[in-house]
Amino acid sequence: MQFRDLKAQYRALKPEIDAGIQAVIDSSAFILGKPVTELENKLAEYVGRKHCVACGNGTDALQLALMAWDIGPGDAVFTSDFTYFASAGTSSVLGAIPVLVDIDITTFNMSPESLEEQIKRVISEGKLTPKVVVPVDLFGQPADYDRILPIAEKYNLKVLEDGAQGFGGNIRGKLACSFGDMSTTSFFPAKPLGCYGDGGAIFTDSEEEDARLRSLRAQGKSPADKYDNREIGINSRLDTLQAAIILPKFDAFVSHEISDVNRVADWYSKRLRCKFVTPTVLPGFLSSWAQYTVLFDNRQERDEMQAKLKTADIPSMIYYPRGLHQQEAYKWMGLDDSLYPNTVEATKRCLSLPMHPYLMEEEVDRICKVLLEE
Ligand SMILES: *Cc1c(COP(=O)(O)O)cnc(C)c1O
Repeated sequence: MQFRDLKAQYRALKPEIDAGIQAVIDSSAFILGKPVTELENKLAEYVGRKHCVACGNGTDALQLALMAWDIGPGDAVFTSDFTYFASAGTSSVLGAIPVLVDIDITTFNMSPESLEEQIKRVISEGKLTPKVVVPVDLFGQPADYDRILPIAEKYNLKVLEDGAQGFGGNIRGKLACSFGDMSTTSFFPAKPLGCYGDGGAIFTDSEEEDARLRSLRAQGKSPADKYDNREIGINSRLDTLQAAIILPKFDAFVSHEISDVNRVADWYSKRLRCKFVTPTVLPGFLSSWAQYTVLFDNRQERDEMQAKLKTADIPSMIYYPRGLHQQEAYKWMGLDDSLYPNTVEATKRCLSLPMHPYLMEEEVDRICKVLLEE
């Protein structure tokens, strides 16, 4: 059994994907070719944003968005403590300071209360200028934008949605990657919409930001003359091959994968909720289930369950074994575990189970039987 079965998806979509790859090779337009523009247009229309700028990966997407807002030394960027490193690392790369926010233990997403506390603390300390909030759509569920956006507005902060895991989710029909001022996603193979290598994208409604992002992803080139750079950018383009691979996958994603993966989540929850804490999706929210993550009673039970699954040849993952405040790179901040009780709790009790749209009910049955057996 696979944790995320990319081969099953390829088998289902092979003719379209192979034809797309061959067409790119025939065209020899390997970088930013026509399929890249086609993909940008389709994704912008789907999520409901005016512009989509494709780039090299989801990390660069976050960095480019922050660069387009001139984020740098002296700035505070608020993000979740329980996420993939890039949500915070991209601020550090630009010389800004990531301010880590505890999570809500039921959704694993940024806690709005903790966000406001951290903003007030930074303001009262007076050392950094609060600039941006980076809420993360963790495991596929959009962050609680109903409550986060008003807080950002109150303190005059920009909102950058890290939708790397959230693409395809929505809140009352409004799609992930349309929340806040800019949004980003990743096409890393294991994400809800993945390619066959690295890829990412930034979404915005602003014409000026779109133009700046297009320049920044190409070393800061001028629109008129690419050998006259107007500022310092990075090199972060999406391969045409990757765009050609995503296009047919995107059609399958929209037409059935999102509903398929939600059916798989229901199969899991129906079987497991009698005994374990299954994932909570807020009313009116839809998850794209980048991960299906269960909370066990304590570390010991979690580790025993993972061992039992392993014996039965069933893969599982601990997302995430550490909060960002516990990682070597951020030790200098001196942040104590007591400041992040929910993150610490989640790291001890969480286990992510095999999850993808091509998982069958018999497989879910087998996984749940192993977890439920006495
Ligand atoms: C994967 C991920 C990223 C980074 O995307 P890459 O394409 O791997 O660079 C950023 N944020 C979150 C929450 C992610 O899960």
